[in-house]
Amino acid sequence: MRLTRLLFVTLRDDPADAEVRSHALMARTGFLQKVAAGIYVYGPMLWRTLRKIEQIVREEHDRAGCQELLMPALQPRELWEESGRWDRYVNDGILFHLQDRKGAELCLGPTHEEVITTFVKRQLQSYKQLPLTLYQIQTKFRDEIRPRFGLMRGREFIMKDAYSFDATPAGMKESYQAMRAVYTRVFTRCGLRFTAVEADPGAIGGSGSEEFMVDADTGEDAIAVCRETGYAANVEKATGVIPPPPAAPPQRPMHKEPTPGARSCEDLQRMFPDLPIARMLKTVLYRVLWRDREGVVAVMCRGDRALNEVKLANFLDALKVELADEKLVRASTGAEPGFAGPIGLGAGVRLVADRSVEGVHGFLCGGNETDTHYLDVWFGRDLPQPETADFGQVQAGDLAPGGQGALEITRGIEVGHIFQLGTKYSEAMECRFVDEQGRTQPAWMGCYGIGISRVAAAAIEQNHDEAGMIWPLPIAPYSVLIVQMKAGDAAQDDLAAELHEALEGEGVDVLWDDRPKVSPGAKFKDADLIGIPLRIVVGRDASQRQVEWKPRRGGSTAIVDAEEAVARVRAALAEISGRPLEVRA
Ligand code: ATP
Ligand code: MG
Repeated sequence: MRLTRLLFVTLRDDPADAEVRSHALMARTGFLQKVAAGIYVYGPMLWRTLRKIEQIVREEHDRAGCQELLMPALQPRELWEESGRWDRYVNDGILFHLQDRKGAELCLGPTHEEVITTFVKRQLQSYKQLPLTLYQIQTKFRDEIRPRFGLMRGREFIMKDAYSFDATPAGMKESYQAMRAVYTRVFTRCGLRFTAVEADPGAIGGSGSEEFMVDADTGEDAIAVCRETGYAANVEKATGVIPPPPAAPPQRPMHKEPTPGARSCEDLQRMFPDLPIARMLKTVLYRVLWRDREGVVAVMCRGDRALNEVKLANFLDALKVELADEKLVRASTGAEPGFAGPIGLGAGVRLVADRSVEGVHGFLCGGNETDTHYLDVWFGRDLPQPETADFGQVQAGDLAPGGQGALEITRGIEVGHIFQLGTKYSEAMECRFVDEQGRTQPAWMGCYGIGISRVAAAAIEQNHDEAGMIWPLPIAPYSVLIVQMKAGDAAQDDLAAELHEALEGEGVDVLWDDRPKVSPGAKFKDADLIGIPLRIVVGRDASQRQVEWKPRRGGSTAIVDAEEAVARVRAALAEISGRPLEVRA
């Protein structure tokens, strides 16, 4: 393709609203253009990338025996009432919903469990039809609270979603493992560095789930990893062995102590320099929302540890937990914020504790009275230890589960999420089959998502430099860029045209920067910006049939014959086409 035929505009400056590099670089190069918050035009260059990602996704799903279909984006409320999810999704505010001319309610699908379960249920009769995995590549709609970072968190975005149906729990696990292998192949073939991590299933529900994270410092997700044991989990879910509590002090009676203005552990450490922070127990108040009610829950936690709201919400089986505001704290403790404690909480406040409080004796805690704390408090002696579970956030240096190897906290971008759903949807929506013994059973389901558009953004977050994007070859808009230094120079015109034709003839995606009246400097700048990975510069030595081989990711620049340049392109492409089977575990 000749560049002069394309709509091609590059901007010198980042758009003001771009918070991450992938967004800024794509917006500057016409890859994407914002229409409204979280809603974009995918420009022609980006569309080529998205189609390449889709192609890899299709090949790997088809190879594993999955069938592609296409479901509607518009879904009737009734289906969501059947699964019981309408209220939750409406309350979360995530669902775009509307009424048709007859007043019937519809939503724009944020996900498709309801539609697929109905589709399968109407055709499923016997165990002999199972197992079964269906998938689609389609636009999803979610009214995200904070649409941002360009393609990373859109309100309209492209997802591949797959759903498996099995006759037994063991079958479901097998289908899940098969999809895990598919995902590993997909992201390996896309040329990305990634980590599969244990995850919290969130609103989708079900038991086991894992996320595929593209390793990137700018990722929204924090991940706990242990190099020694291979443990990897989203911090929302991660657990480990926390440092033990300090030794118990000699027994002294519990007493109140004035602590004017000391609202935080830091303030208290200044006031009581001899008291280890791990013997200060904080009590954090949360406003908790369930489907049918709301309440206040106080959670105790060791001073040197932090709480994890996802674990807390799961334990309480709540829709949402949020820090109590000042008014609620005053109403629940009778004190200003900063002085909450387990003794003398208002009626109706439920008290629970993170496991970090276990074994802590002679501790300090809030007095439920402004400017007051209790000292030398013992569970068992002064108050019963509240119901205790793991509500804690792992920290770097904690030991991995099992007690071997330390955890590190790294960052990643979630590009895929796989779930074992069990029978949550098949029970609710009566998707059943007759088993070998003639009994009617609900199908065992799994669901599997890949954020196709987010993959493109993640690829750039992981692969860019000061000068611009660096596309991994398998998903680059074009594989090769021919930069012609001077259009109109006869030798250069001929050689560039010859290379262009030869490569296109071999089916290579090649872009030829044939722009007249654009300086070599400006062409190189644009080339760096759009990040086509393989580059051939046709310049001064064109009459000797010599070109410069100048890959985007520097290092191996060389002057070579035109034939050698074509051979190098062939070799690079052969290497990635051989990729699908040799993947990392
Ligand atoms: P997140 O926690 O990032 O909101 P999620 O858990 O809601 O993601 P899923 O419902 O599992 O995501 O969706 C499957 C995949 O779709 C995700 O792994 C992600 O790659 C992608 N995805 C989800 N929400 C968005 C969005 N708003 N914009 C772009 N891609 C998204
Ligand atoms: Mg989400």
